[in-house]
Amino acid sequence: MDVNAEAPKMPQLKDCPKCGRSNMSDARYCEGCGASLKDVVPQTATPEKKKGLLAKLFGRES
Ligand SMILES: [Zn+2]
Repeated sequence: MDVNAEAPKMPQLKDCPKCGRSNMSDARYCEGCGASLKDVVPQTATPEKKKGLLAKLFGRES
């Protein structure tokens, strides 16, 4: 499921327009449903994880 949860660098991802699965930026077809990804623009992966990490670091979320 998780590609590289602890990868130091954030890979660019292509989100499948059909099923929403995240595929590697160089993927031509979705790993989930096989839809063509050639028209999908790669995006840098989720800033939300960073947010969660920051919240953990500061520990004042709740
Ligand atoms: Zn898909």
